[in-house]
Amino acid sequence: MKVKSYEDLLQAELTVSLGGQTLQVSVFLIDHLLIDTGPNRKQKSLISLFEQWDINDVILTHHHEDHTGLAYWLKHNKDATIHMHPLGATYGQKKARLPLYRRVFWGKRPAFHAKELSDTFQSEHYVWEVIHTPGHADDHIALYNKEKGWLFGGDLYVHPKPKSMFKFESVPKLIHSLRKVLAYDFDTYICSHAGVIFNGKKALKTKLDYLISLQQEVLFLHNKGMTRKQVRQELFPKKHMMHYISFFENSPRHFIDSIIDQK
Ligand SMILES: [Zn+2]
Repeated sequence: MKVKSYEDLLQAELTVSLGGQTLQVSVFLIDHLLIDTGPNRKQKSLISLFEQWDINDVILTHHHEDHTGLAYWLKHNKDATIHMHPLGATYGQKKARLPLYRRVFWGKRPAFHAKELSDTFQSEHYVWEVIHTPGHADDHIALYNKEKGWLFGGDLYVHPKPKSMFKFESVPKLIHSLRKVLAYDFDTYICSHAGVIFNGKKALKTKLDYLISLQQEVLFLHNKGMTRKQVRQELFPKKHMMHYISFFENSPRHFIDSIIDQK
């Protein structure tokens, strides 16, 4: 685990690996507010960090286990108030039932109690605007700090040009959410996996343009008479280990389905 600082922000970056697959995930502390808790599999390093950090509140960007795995611990051991989107608060009430590959990679996600977020959140020194940004998850939010010109975007960005996506994700919804946040005035974008991105608007714009052109290509080929399978073979011919390990919960086919079905 690496702890980095930028102005009054602390970032703890964790590396999680399994079977040749390595991912980074970060949690952030600013103004006694913790943004996301990290995965349960990293509880040893995270708990020793949280024991030192002065945390009053926790905001969860969405319910996924790599962001919420220690919410129950923070509630019971730090007496922190957990906040999240109303949909996420409902999901949090029960322990997550995860597919095996996710449970092995990130660890379990025990049940926790969260308070429902409204449109703004006040920490000691800052006002945070809560922006509902579905597409990666239906309870996904971004947090905007106008005073600093910072946007915490959870998993809205992650990668500018993804080649695969999860079954629960939606290209049309991601496009809508990216457009929504791009209307805000910010420079620094803070991503749960890619970390602090100083030219954040440009990065988000690159992803938005990529998804828009992907959407146009898919619709063009489908309207020409190609089946969904043919569209996928044309645009994403390569198969990756991850598609099989996830039993196709993660696959390029979900780009095509979400675009054609506009779901
Ligand atoms: Zn996620």
